[in-house]
Amino acid sequence: MPLPRPHYASGTASFFGRRSLTETEVSPEAMSRIFLKILVPGPFADGLTYHATDTIDAGIRVRVPLGTREVIGLCCGHTAPPDNIETTKPIIEVLDTQPIIDPALFQLAEFAADYYLAPLGDLLLQGIPTALRKGKPLPAPKPEQGQSVARPYPLTDEQTDAIDRVQSGFDQFNVFLLQGVTGSGKTQVFSELISRTLARNQQVLLLVPEIGLTGQMVDRIQAQLTGTLNVSHSGLADGARARAYAGALSGDTDVLIGTRSVLFTPLPNLGLILVDEEHDSAYKNQDGARFSARDLAIVRAKQADIPILLSSATPALETWHQANLGRYTRLRLTQRPGAARQVSFRLIDARRDQPVHGLTQAARMRIERTLTNGQQALVFLNRRGYAPVLLCTDCGWTPGCRHCDARPTLHRAPDLLWCHHCDHKQRPPTVCPDCGGLQLLPVGQGTERLSEALEHQFPDWPVIRIDRDTTTRRRAFETLLEPVIAGDPCILIGTQMLAKGHDFKQLATVIVADADQGLLGADFRAVEHFAQLLTQVAGRAGRHQTDGEVLIQTHRPDSEWFARIMSADYDALAEHIYAERKQYQWPPETHLALITARGPHSDSVLQALGVAAQHIRQLQSPIRILGPAPAPMERRNRQFHGQLLLVGTRTVLNWALKETGPWAYRRRGQVMFQLDVDPWDLW
Ligand code: ADP
Ligand code: ZN
Ligand code: ZN
Repeated sequence: MPLPRPHYASGTASFFGRRSLTETEVSPEAMSRIFLKILVPGPFADGLTYHATDTIDAGIRVRVPLGTREVIGLCCGHTAPPDNIETTKPIIEVLDTQPIIDPALFQLAEFAADYYLAPLGDLLLQGIPTALRKGKPLPAPKPEQGQSVARPYPLTDEQTDAIDRVQSGFDQFNVFLLQGVTGSGKTQVFSELISRTLARNQQVLLLVPEIGLTGQMVDRIQAQLTGTLNVSHSGLADGARARAYAGALSGDTDVLIGTRSVLFTPLPNLGLILVDEEHDSAYKNQDGARFSARDLAIVRAKQADIPILLSSATPALETWHQANLGRYTRLRLTQRPGAARQVSFRLIDARRDQPVHGLTQAARMRIERTLTNGQQALVFLNRRGYAPVLLCTDCGWTPGCRHCDARPTLHRAPDLLWCHHCDHKQRPPTVCPDCGGLQLLPVGQGTERLSEALEHQFPDWPVIRIDRDTTTRRRAFETLLEPVIAGDPCILIGTQMLAKGHDFKQLATVIVADADQGLLGADFRAVEHFAQLLTQVAGRAGRHQTDGEVLIQTHRPDSEWFARIMSADYDALAEHIYAERKQYQWPPETHLALITARGPHSDSVLQALGVAAQHIRQLQSPIRILGPAPAPMERRNRQFHGQLLLVGTRTVLNWALKETGPWAYRRRGQVMFQLDVDPWDLW
């Protein structure tokens, strides 16, 4: 396939046209120039024009001057000579002999740039590993070999059916939703589909939400794989990422497994895309260009005319709805195969059975019983650190963050008041700055404190804490989990890092320490996210010989949502959520675009958004405009944040934003705009 050279023909024509009109200015040297569009890092809506004496293929990296610096850019083909053809700057160095990006990715990025109204360069460059972005040469590929171990059990009928249906659609675009309860063997379906794709000499892209949490799944896939694989994610060393990229590009790597950052990795023989836990918000890219890797994966499959399989026990409501409409093909796995058991739920009324150090009597007893039975218990608390609040018991003073409308979290070891929103850290005071009192007490529970309490209460068993603070070092996660995987009795305590994907064979009990937190979220998606999280956490239990029990500690045991979540019927729950969304005209009934603005003063931020609203209102379109309003946390990281929420159809929103934009990276005085099409968080 030829590489895209979008403006070559018309550019040449206008070049000669202009020359014959003005006759002079253009030197012969300038006339022999070839003008190229180069994507460079930075908030440029499009590529910048440079010149060279020889042609350079699209997808080749070049070194170019930019202001006073030199940067690495990506050539995206010829372009029309600019008006100032004498002043364009030359390309300093050509870094590749072969393109490092294939035409399919240009096509994908062009779609994304149009849909998300985001700079093309931002989209394409963020997908290139740092080492390559810095100009290092493309390394030799180094894929890992699969172990070709035979599958240890026969497939279930449901698995066979799902696999056959995807296979019968190889070679054409189709979106499949593999909606299978937790522990129903979705990973096995992946493995099977991978081997059938490899048998056709095609590559597979497997997207996962967070790789650190998926090591176990990668191991399982690698065990059965007859072929090669690479894993790539932002936690990997630069060189390793570049090698994975090189392998995918050259075709040496059959299976590329990675987080959202690998969506824009070239795979010339791509035959199948798999998206694990498709509902996970980690698929939303929030730094730089905002896009959903899941949604763009669907576009990539469509452009390549291949099938894509989205998998989840708790599909995003948008995905679930598409399957109901018949636009996606739903495949179900309703049973846990083999010896896996079902999970039962129990609510604990924390008003009657009051928690001591974060745990109710009922929860403690259940943990004790689990451990003496030789099994494992998981305590889920989605709040890292020691305690959410430090309180002066004399006057009621609590510290706030200097830069945010937020309370810093108290951490111990080391002693810190740490704002999780802006990362500001300070030593906790020993004396109350308001009244001079000395009684400063931590209030509430974080994982650090709860694990301390568990260690006291269960001194004979290991307590393993898994959260971002205990897993920063490379492979820390795997090391911490070793005894868990080995099946030794222990208590696991941690945040949502523990909710996803793991297959702990001896895990019998899950305690949800604070279930009230989730239901109180302000966002219209709060209930959906909470239900997904709870279902995922609960799904860790009872996966093998053991029965699973989930105990939920709550002060609001009569909330209707608990009954629905506990019924373990995700479709019934989704039906309820959908009815609410429909009534209030939220997605998936409508589409959203969020214009956010930030600046040093709240007045100017809201005023700038007011002007934006005015522009959009003047279009007299059927768009509903909510705001301008302060963001849910208005002061964040020394800046005031405001937002304007647009509700409408995709087409009208896209049109209106184009008419009035660009909004991404727009600056008005000290106010910076950002645009989020299909936002996942109204933050
Ligand atoms: P999910 O990804 O749906 O949560 P997994 O793929 O982790 O489920 O499978 C759960 C467990 O069931 C795994 O230990 C896996 O080895 C086992 N398993 C999968 N398929 C089968 C099968 N056909 N027969 C027996 N056990 C199976
Ligand atoms: Zn005080
Ligand atoms: Zn802060």
